[in-house]
Amino acid sequence: MPNSVTTRFAPSPTGYLHVGHIQAAAFARDAARAAGGRFLLRIEDIDPVRCRPQYTPAIEEDLRWLGLEWDGPVRVQSAHLEEYRAVLEELAGRGLLYPCFCTRAEIAREIAASGGAPHGPDGPLYPGTCRRLSPTEREARIAAGDAYALRLDMGAACACTGPLTRHERGKGRLACHPEAFGDVVLARKDIPASYHLCVTHDDALQSVTLVTRAVDLEPAADLHRLLQALMNWPEPDYAHHPLLLGPDGKRLAKRDGAATIRQMREAGETPEAVLARVLARPVS
Ligand code: GLU
Repeated sequence: MPNSVTTRFAPSPTGYLHVGHIQAAAFARDAARAAGGRFLLRIEDIDPVRCRPQYTPAIEEDLRWLGLEWDGPVRVQSAHLEEYRAVLEELAGRGLLYPCFCTRAEIAREIAASGGAPHGPDGPLYPGTCRRLSPTEREARIAAGDAYALRLDMGAACACTGPLTRHERGKGRLACHPEAFGDVVLARKDIPASYHLCVTHDDALQSVTLVTRAVDLEPAADLHRLLQALMNWPEPDYAHHPLLLGPDGKRLAKRDGAATIRQMREAGETPEAVLARVLARPVS
């Protein structure tokens, strides 16, 4: 029988691990261990601008030093771009994606001209300009070499799945509102697949049964649930943990001098003391 609970810690290698990461990793690890399940490590490095390969071994080393050992091989997203491309192709083949040629400036101008746009979890909603292009116009612009992102046609996607719910530990079944994201980008002009697509694909592929994240990312779960339903991927449970707070009672930030694990280690702290201190911090 497969293990009943699989969780994962999925950092992006944009720097050394800090206390927020450790809280997230320990939360996922503890949820798996409490159920006798599996705890996985995944490196989310699809954004070549923000991610630096040298941080990946540093992340593994810091986790090992802290005793936050993971099970099985580490999945590194940048080694699997063709898998994400296949998902995009499938969605495109079903008419659920469209190419968007707009620049940020053009989108901002369009929004300003129409008197504003509602805000979604990832920013102002896209006004749908390129959704209205004809197939001929799309083909001509692609043939001309214009760069494009791929957006989900949210109306068409929601019509496909109908209303959705998800299960949040401690709260039960919640109604999902993926439409709050509007026509979300699933592949950027400069990055072949978006966070939302890759994370949802990988959670399904790796049989993650409990997705754990900080509460500030909770709205994304509704969009991920939509992608799962569209792709017929299994539905995981969700558990969102509170955020660590800084001395001012606000979300812990770099300005609070939140040291990296590496700095604490170099200062001669023991892993036990670091873990205990991180987990004893006040939370939101
Ligand atoms: N890779 C994401 C990050 O470091 C988090 C992934 C997730 O847990 O969904 O912010």
